[in-house]
This record gives sequence, C-alpha cells and structure tokens, in this order.
Amino acid sequence: MNAFEYASPTSVDDAVSLLSDSWGETEVLAGGTDLLTLLKQGLTAPRLVVSLSNVKQLSGISKKGGSLEIGATTTLSELVANADVQEHFPALVTAANNIGSTQILNAGTVGGDLLQRPRCWYFRNGFGLFGTHDGEPLVPTGDNRYHAIFGNSGAAKFVNASSLAPGLIALGATLSVQGPGGAREVKASEFYSTPKSENDREYTLKPNEVLTGVSIPMQGLRNGTYEVRQRRGLDWPMVAASVAFEHGGGTVSDARIVLGHVAPVPWFAEKASKELGGKQPNDAALKSASEAAVADATPLSRNGYKVQQLRVAVRRAIEAALA
Ligand SMILES: Cc1cc2nc3c(=O)[nH]c(=O)nc-3n(C[C@H](O)[C@H](O)[C@H](O)COP(=O)(O)OP(=O)(O)OC[C@H]3O[C@@H](n4cnc5c(N)ncnc54)[C@H](O)[C@@H]3O)c2cc1C
Repeated sequence: MNAFEYASPTSVDDAVSLLSDSWGETEVLAGGTDLLTLLKQGLTAPRLVVSLSNVKQLSGISKKGGSLEIGATTTLSELVANADVQEHFPALVTAANNIGSTQILNAGTVGGDLLQRPRCWYFRNGFGLFGTHDGEPLVPTGDNRYHAIFGNSGAAKFVNASSLAPGLIALGATLSVQGPGGAREVKASEFYSTPKSENDREYTLKPNEVLTGVSIPMQGLRNGTYEVRQRRGLDWPMVAASVAFEHGGGTVSDARIVLGHVAPVPWFAEKASKELGGKQPNDAALKSASEAAVADATPLSRNGYKVQQLRVAVRRAIEAALA
C-alpha cells in the first residue's frame, strides 16, 4: 500500500474542504470494507484519506416530515435493526441482511454500500473499469459470467455492486450530497451513471463531494427484494430485483421494478413496471412482468443464465412485496 496522509475532521464542511476536485488524489473513508481493499491492491493511491468516522452528524436514522432520513455513515447493522426500516422498507432489510457477514454489516455503511466500486475481476486485477489489455477489451471474449446483461453495448460491462441501490430507487429515495458549493439533492434514480472513460466513476458524485444521507418517502408502498445468490455470505448476488408499488382496490399502481447486478448502473425495468401497473397481481400479471423485465436483455458469451434467474427474481420480489 502506498503511504498517505490521514485526516479525521469533525464536520462535513471540513471534510469537503480537504477533498481534491480530481478523482484519486484524495479518498473518503467510511467503514473501510471496500476502500482498504482498493488501497491495498493499489487500485487507488491517494495522497490523503479523509475519514468520516468523527463526523457525528452523518450517523443515525430519524423521521422528518413524511420521510425517513438515513445518515450516510449509518452502519448496515443499524439499518436492518431500525424499527421504522423494518416496518416500512422490507426491500432494504432483505437486501442489507444478505450482505457479506456480521462483520461487514457492523463496519460497512449505507453510503459506502452505495459508492462501493465494481467487483468486476478485470477491474479488481488492475485492467481498469473497462477491462482492457494493450487497448484490447478483455471482457467480451473473456470470463464475463458475472458481467452485465443490460447496458453493455459500450466499453463498460461491469455490474453495479450495490444491493441497496435498487431498493432505494424503487422506493423513490433522494440522496443528499455536500460539496464546496453547498448541499444538493439528487434522486437515487439519477445518481448513477455509466462511465465514459477510465477516469470517470460509476456515479454522479463529484470527487470533492461527500454523500451525507438518504431520504426515503414513507408512502406506504408495498416493497420487496429478491436476490439470486450462489451462496449465503461473503459474496454478491448474481442478479436481484427490488420492487415497490401501491396495491389498493385490488390493482397495482405506481409500480417500480429495479434490477440489481445486471448492468453498470441499477437498471430500471421500465417495460416490466408498466406491465405490472393497473393489473391485479395474479399469476398472469407476474409472468408478464417478469417476461417484460428480461425482454431487452443482451447477455454476453457466458452470462445468458442470468436471464432466467432474473425472471425468477422479479416474480419473487413482487410476491415478497405482496406477502
Ligand atoms: C465479502 C464481502 C461481501 C459483500 N457482499 C455484498 C453484497 O452482497 N451486496 C452489497 O451491496 N455489498 C456487499 N459487500 C460490500 C459492502 O456492503 C461494502 O463494502 C460496504 O457497504 C462499504 O461500506 P464502507 O462504509 O465500508 O465503505 P468504504 O469502504 O469506507 O467506502 C467505499 C467507497 O465509498 C466511498 N464513500 C463511502 N462513504 C462515502 C461518503 N459518505 N461520501 C463519499 N464517498 C464515500 C469511499 O471513498 C469508497 O470509494 C460485500 C463486501 C464484502 C467484503
């Protein structure tokens, strides 16, 4: 690991003032469960690491108006143990509970989960976000079994690794961010972006901004998540689906189906969401929604299996939300 300076400010303003406007010169440290790996593997070599552990205002969960506010450094354990989260947002509880191990849940934070870097093994082994060697792309003809089946026509073929992001997008959450120019809010659905160059990141957060929190409207939407995993613990899902919708008067409305671990960004399944809307959530409606969810999939040479997994994940996520 390269040597770096370490700062532990006590306010967001001070943290922001320490950050560079170029990616990689400085890095924000929350629980460190991803950042320390990136540092040790030389995937980032900042001159300064800015810890958020002493910025107390960033931690905790509270109700404000009709929303639940979750501080960025709230741990995943705190998230799943919170009574309001359990009552209103089972989609998030399921997603968070499936993450890694007790140790990761205790150390990892909500903000860190949303901003973790891709797990693509080309990226993690030093071949960059696009997985190239001597300018040649390695992913299309290489081992792409865990790569994207949507949004993969460009250079980026990794999948977004966050299990919380699809649920937050389905629930209509808003993220708060603070930078040198002050605070701004961004819809969770607009927070992620597919990088166009190796120097970009997978989100719209700027290098000198701190993610301060997440706000989720408590609208009484039914919601659920279903993940397909090879094993429990110490791994990421192969595919996941999070759904949220209103279910009054027998029919579904305001349906949002968001897919995880299948594209460089959390993938809003627009056709599937429309397909479910206005219908009674019976067997035929679930079947047509899950078919619509995979209709535009473009699997790579070794990940066609994800298509069937996704059909199942969408159906079971809807069933979980109805249960
Ligand atoms: C074995 C294993 C299995 C896992 N399985 C899953 C899984 O199934 N699903 C899943 O979603 N995750 C999984 N994870 C990832 C885990 O959830 C993340 O590592 C963790 O949530 C990151 O949180 P952290 O606080 O430790 O972040 P850190 O490691 O401290 O930071 C992660 C990244 O986010 C940036 N960052 C963090 N907080 C902020 C902030 N507030 N503002 C600006 N930048 C910030 C950091 O600079 C860094 O780039 C797994 C991890 C491991 C090790």
